[in-house]
Amino acid sequence: MRILLIEDETKIASFIRRGLREEHYTVDVADTGEKGLYTAEINPYDLIILDLMLPDRDGLTVCRELRKKQINTPVLMLTARNAVRDKVSGLDAGADDYLTKPFAFNELLARVRALLRRQGTNKTTILKVADLEINQLTQKAHRNSKPINLTSKEYALLEFLMLNANQLVTRTMISEHVWQEDFDSFTNVIDVYINYLRKKIDQPTAKKLIHTIRGSGYILKDPATEP
Ligand code: CA
Repeated sequence: MRILLIEDETKIASFIRRGLREEHYTVDVADTGEKGLYTAEINPYDLIILDLMLPDRDGLTVCRELRKKQINTPVLMLTARNAVRDKVSGLDAGADDYLTKPFAFNELLARVRALLRRQGTNKTTILKVADLEINQLTQKAHRNSKPINLTSKEYALLEFLMLNANQLVTRTMISEHVWQEDFDSFTNVIDVYINYLRKKIDQPTAKKLIHTIRGSGYILKDPATEP
């Protein structure tokens, strides 16, 4: 599940991002309304967390713009004010829910889950490549109908590879989407985790799905689709 967080306050943004990543969500952060709109247009998100007070344009405008561009991703609005008027305006602008700052992280998480569940009814959450399948809601993986036991990091990495199936995924992309921002991309942590995944996913079968593109990164693909 990929979440876009549009929030200019660095401390709050990193607090939310860290917490959500611990829950296996992939989180991108935009620190202005402009960047948020642009990012939401080029990437598919399952949820957008949008701060009301932004340096360039306010959250309400951003939300209206998103809806005008036919981006119907659920929006959870963050507001520092507790005025009923702000909440009503947020919902009128096309937000699906709102949360007043300061909030407990668990409350944010509960609302994120609720919005994703609501969306889950009309959106497939099963990703499939050959006989490998993951369910983004339960975060369970199966290969050839056999369950695969993954750690949360392994799951997040696999989900990212599957979301980008049949495309080259570079180490930079992985470090940006699956690891924290302070992650040192010169370490071999990614390769180590790719090896863990290979052992769990590819080694028990003859058909390899995870391929190394030397010097570039990795591709997860069904070998049957090769020309
Ligand atoms: Ca703000």
